[in-house]
Amino acid sequence: MDLVGVASPEPGPAAAWGPSKCPWATPQNTISCSLADVMSEQLAKELQLEEEAAAFPEVVVAEGPFITGENTDTSSDLMLAQMLQMEFDREYDAQLRREEKKFNGDSKVSISFENYRKVHPYEDSDSSEDEVDWQDTRDDPYIPAKPVPTPKKGFIGKGKDITTKHDEVVCGRKNTARMENFAPGFQVGDGIGMDLKLSNHVFNALKQHAYSEERRSARLHEKKEHSTAEKAVDPKTRLLMYKMVNSGMLETITGCISTGKESVVFHAYGGSTEDEKEDSKVIPTECAIKVFKTTLNEFKNRDKYIKDDFRFKDRFSKLNPRKIIRMWAEKEMHNLTRMQRAGIPCPTVVLLKKHILVMSFIGHDQVPAPKLKEVKLSSEEMKEAYYQTLHLMQQLYNECTLVHADLSEYNMLWHAGKVWLIDVSQSVEPTHPHGLEFLFRDCRNVSQFFQKGGVKEALGERELFNAVSGLNISADNEADFLAEIEALEKMNEDHVQKNGRKAASFLKDDGGPPVLYDE
Ligand code: ADP
Ligand code: MN
Repeated sequence: MDLVGVASPEPGPAAAWGPSKCPWATPQNTISCSLADVMSEQLAKELQLEEEAAAFPEVVVAEGPFITGENTDTSSDLMLAQMLQMEFDREYDAQLRREEKKFNGDSKVSISFENYRKVHPYEDSDSSEDEVDWQDTRDDPYIPAKPVPTPKKGFIGKGKDITTKHDEVVCGRKNTARMENFAPGFQVGDGIGMDLKLSNHVFNALKQHAYSEERRSARLHEKKEHSTAEKAVDPKTRLLMYKMVNSGMLETITGCISTGKESVVFHAYGGSTEDEKEDSKVIPTECAIKVFKTTLNEFKNRDKYIKDDFRFKDRFSKLNPRKIIRMWAEKEMHNLTRMQRAGIPCPTVVLLKKHILVMSFIGHDQVPAPKLKEVKLSSEEMKEAYYQTLHLMQQLYNECTLVHADLSEYNMLWHAGKVWLIDVSQSVEPTHPHGLEFLFRDCRNVSQFFQKGGVKEALGERELFNAVSGLNISADNEADFLAEIEALEKMNEDHVQKNGRKAASFLKDDGGPPVLYDE
């Protein structure tokens, strides 16, 4: 049996292609978006719509996955048909693999069905333009009535009946047969079944068209994948993001890099600011866009962080939930700015727009720097990371007057040989009614992570707490230690109740570390 199918010139990487591997240019990060996310976004959307409708006149946003500022056409039926065809081809191939397995069973000699695979030629190759050799004249098994091959000498026959390889009829038939090499989704009509003779000119034009259609289709499919991620934000948010691109501040929003409970983070290439004002900033080449989720649920879980933060306390009571969500973004911005000033490695704030915070991207070429949780460090690097973290925590407490309050290996990135702090929307001042408890929790996470990671020098959680806060809590077990922390917090609150926050000099005149009252 002749099993030679539509063999691609090279066996190509198609054989290795499995369901987990995306054949298109894959976004470097997993896109996660659950139904629950989408549903909660709908709730959020309803909340936001009224208010923002007034502020933003309707603009038609192309339902494009990338936000590039260019108009993207995704409405073509042909494109959709081709995407479906690709989907079908893939399913067909999966079925083929199953058949193949069944056919071969445990037999020592196996038969490969590889050549019957349907996957798009695009997926079969690394798809650099010149890899697809449309003029390949090697035997084409699908030629219905095989034209007489032209021998090496370039002609057959004799005298008047001589036929050269340029013969119109032969060549035309070959061209018609070769059309079968076009992508499966490409409409070539019934020509293949007939004795149709395509001139070289027509064939080449058609070939060119087929190829560009194919690439278009692949590009489109790639975009479709990104758009799934973009659905993680509501239309109003998308509109705000679109405006950032439209204004030129961002060049392209490439896709989603993280979908969390409370935020969705996108990667974008920075553009430039038009206005030549002195304070206009240089936009970083790569940006991260953190979109705070505008759901009531999450805000409820977290209000303890903000409601008691005296910086926001006055405003809290007057605000509606949507505005409180914006305060999260604002809080992250302020906290990052403080950290930046202290020289702590962290993202630089680029822009705050409602619940969207644009900052510099920690990473390179769309690949975010790994979290300490994910990165495999040598023991030397691990030790180095530990000392850096200790120093960061002290700087944060003493110079920024902040407690991270969600510090762990998940919110520390390893980039350019340094530990970078991110995710500081919930960070509070140490004098926050629960500030010291938050600090203790941070210390526990950090201590456990580095101790488990084999750093012998890593302080235990209680020692670390004292080393960061400068407090001298001597309790030698956790319960007592925590009791002391809570007593301190209470004393502090009582002082505030008595004397008022403004009267209290929590900060030294030089802006140094806060002093907790222990009178
Ligand atoms: P969440 O509240 O969802 O945890 P984070 O601020 O921690 O929000 O962001 C989620 C993830 O997005 C991070 O773990 C990190 O991988 C990525 N990320 C966030 N900000 C940046 C940034 N500035 N540069 C690179 N990656 C970032
Ligand atoms: Mn985080």
